[in-house]
Amino acid sequence: MKWQGRRQSRNVRRGRSRGGRASRGMIPFPAGRIGGTGLIIIIVLVLIFGGDFLSSGRSESRNNVGTYENASETITPENELEAFLSVVLADTEDVWHEVFAVYGERYREPTLTLYSGSVQSGCGFASSDLGPFYCPADENIYIDPSFYYELKNKFDASGDFAFAYVLAHEVGHHVQKLMGTTDYVFAKQDQLSEKEFNQYLIRLELQADYYAGVFAHYVQNKGYLEIGDIEEAMNAAAGVGDDAIQRKAIGKVIPDQFTHGTSEQRMRWFERGYRYGDLEHGDTFTAHELFVNDWDDIGWYSDFATAA
Ligand SMILES: [Zn+2]
Repeated sequence: MKWQGRRQSRNVRRGRSRGGRASRGMIPFPAGRIGGTGLIIIIVLVLIFGGDFLSSGRSESRNNVGTYENASETITPENELEAFLSVVLADTEDVWHEVFAVYGERYREPTLTLYSGSVQSGCGFASSDLGPFYCPADENIYIDPSFYYELKNKFDASGDFAFAYVLAHEVGHHVQKLMGTTDYVFAKQDQLSEKEFNQYLIRLELQADYYAGVFAHYVQNKGYLEIGDIEEAMNAAAGVGDDAIQRKAIGKVIPDQFTHGTSEQRMRWFERGYRYGDLEHGDTFTAHELFVNDWDDIGWYSDFATAA
């Protein structure tokens, strides 16, 4: 991705890295945990970039503890990672301002908190094991930049645009909050069995992938993508699919414990967003159930998967 020298978002903060209280209400990406669903609605996507966060200015927020403590005067790959995320966040702002304007709505920008190890979020205490996540309560995305390396080593997803996909997915969860989709889903929690509710959570996740695709559509049109970027994102979407993660972790696939959708589903919804670049084609909730793969009670829509 062409990102050097471009605008960085002002909405990036460093988090405190210690705190300590129970966490709940977060929506994680397909990160660390296998199987668990219920409480955790954070959107955590994994990013591994390593190191440190913004070293530019912002001395008022230097109350963090941990490995980033002394980094702000040093130029490191971590700083570069932080700069990269700040540019990608700025791009998401441009994209979603533009998309919302098409529908006569105004986009409210989220904050990105970069932390190391653990963080006290508006949804409670979280460690980086959870992976990148979005907290609807404070409209804040939390990422430990070291997730970049995890993405590469654990999920076989390398490349800068793989990381951009992760952040764009989390921003997708923010878009869902603004549109009322998050509330729509969580209002169902008490009416449904855990298994049924989990299907809604997966649809929420796949829609965040669709929105990440919408982001890719726009930055492509602006000329910021390089050859191979879309493949990097698709590869990341595959790498964080539930079936891929389970296969690696436990050597088998347990569809009842899916939380984010299969590799195939994640790639498909990302690609769909990339193709259409609008909101209309991103309704994972009414997508009909005729479909396609082996674990099919989730049954998604087959727009291009069947044709492929
Ligand atoms: Zn997610």
